[in-house]
Amino acid sequence: MNQEVKVAVIGCGVTGISTVNHIVSDDRYTGFIDLDLYDREDLAGKGPAYRSDSDHLLINIPTEEMHLSDDANDYIEWLKSKGYPPAKYTSRKQFGEYTKEKLESLLESNENIHLIFSIVDDVSYDSETKKFTLTAGGEDKVYDYVFVTMGMLRYSDPYDLEGMNGYVQDPYPVMEKMADLKGETGIIGTGLSAIDCIRYLILENKKERVFVFSRSGEMPSVRGAHAEITLHHFTKEKLRSLLIGDEIPLESLRQLFLKEVEANNVDYSLLKRRTGNTVKDLKYDMDHPEKVGRLHYLIMALNPVFSEIFQYLSRNDKKIFMDKYHPYINENHSPMPREAAEKLIEWVNGGRLFIVDDMESVKKEKKFSIRANENEYYKVDTLINATGPVKDIRKDMDGLVGALYDRQLIGQNEFGGIMVDRERSVISPNIGTLEKMFALGALTVGADYMSTSVWLLIKNTKKLSDRFYDRLK
Ligand SMILES: Cc1cc2nc3c(=O)[nH]c(=O)nc-3n(C[C@H](O)[C@H](O)[C@H](O)COP(=O)(O)OP(=O)(O)OC[C@H]3O[C@@H](n4cnc5c(N)ncnc54)[C@H](O)[C@@H]3O)c2cc1C
Repeated sequence: MNQEVKVAVIGCGVTGISTVNHIVSDDRYTGFIDLDLYDREDLAGKGPAYRSDSDHLLINIPTEEMHLSDDANDYIEWLKSKGYPPAKYTSRKQFGEYTKEKLESLLESNENIHLIFSIVDDVSYDSETKKFTLTAGGEDKVYDYVFVTMGMLRYSDPYDLEGMNGYVQDPYPVMEKMADLKGETGIIGTGLSAIDCIRYLILENKKERVFVFSRSGEMPSVRGAHAEITLHHFTKEKLRSLLIGDEIPLESLRQLFLKEVEANNVDYSLLKRRTGNTVKDLKYDMDHPEKVGRLHYLIMALNPVFSEIFQYLSRNDKKIFMDKYHPYINENHSPMPREAAEKLIEWVNGGRLFIVDDMESVKKEKKFSIRANENEYYKVDTLINATGPVKDIRKDMDGLVGALYDRQLIGQNEFGGIMVDRERSVISPNIGTLEKMFALGALTVGADYMSTSVWLLIKNTKKLSDRFYDRLK
């Protein structure tokens, strides 16, 4: 291969950096491959999750399990080299400094990688030449391959409150959006973003009290002790043997899961341990770190397998899976650090944190009036939306996603994000599979089941880089 290959990477967070890292570290890499990375200057090298923000926003994965290279100790060594004190969970800001340095060293050691501080506004495709034209900062540039690694879709607005006085539509960066919030404050949502907001408001903003509203009141579980898990049943051979034509029946996977649970000595009843009482549920996990840890680490070990095989379920089985089994996995998939849970319990007991479940509606009068449990009303001056991004691309039509959708280069996946094939090539409703356009990250949530954790994105970008080289052949 001695013809120049032009590659564009749209989005320079963990997925973009890791994709480029794999491409240039590969034996098949040659100086003929030229890579342009696009992102806005303040987020390039970090992405929104690891941008410069409050120290109280923690990574939910133990430090020794976070890294951006093949060397598992890389992040720990980097922290030491910077003189940061050892911590079981570092701040996300620190991880962002680390990823940014990784990007800088990639740029320094490779003159074929160019970082362009610009948002990509549009991409068009020419099926004659099979090339893409990217528009960024008012300029057009032509590419042979495009990687869409642009992270999450826009923040959701479940109660249609955007633009109202006192409403914080997207809480990040918290130091900017929440520095000066007036009066009684409420948060919508009880996931990891809500925990970020609670921590910031109480620890840094020194709010006397905070209300948290959600439909379920359920918070993520509390991370248990590390457990060694070996997959005995979810092996490539066994999964292959379950294939009927091109599909794996959900029932076969369920049977396999039960066998795996038993083989790894995981207490199956833990999946139904939740009582609906938030404090009681958090305490349960904290009191049983060993057995809860076995469940968490089994789910983590299965995550890369599920990320692949979700695409082999029929549409109906996917629906059943999402309705019936996903909620149990979701509760145990991204547990919060124990330290975070201890603080939450302390604040609930101390009358500083009120968790209100069965939230029904919000009305904006002079204050926000939140109705819950049929006839309870709560009034707050400020309401923070911590419900996370939308999953349906049709609710994010303003930027590049809208432009790609309009051109019918991308199509909506009913389980979230866009349509991609099993190789993560983008499927255009108009043209069919775009062999030279790949997508990975939050945009492919409907295809890659629960695959946006750093460690899994890094695994999956290696596969993406391999596919790129396969196509180049
Ligand atoms: C608040 C928060 C906390 C999280 N905490 C954790 C955690 O503790 N542990 C964990 O494993 N995972 C965590 N995650 C999951 C997180 O999604 C991944 O860790 C990771 O950051 C995703 O990386 P990414 O590169 O796919 O996307 P992002 O990090 O979102 O990066 C995408 C980049 O694309 C850029 N971009 C978007 N549109 C364009 C465009 N049109 N042109 C050019 N550039 C564009 C964006 O500016 C952004 O920098 C968290 C996520 C969030 C949102």
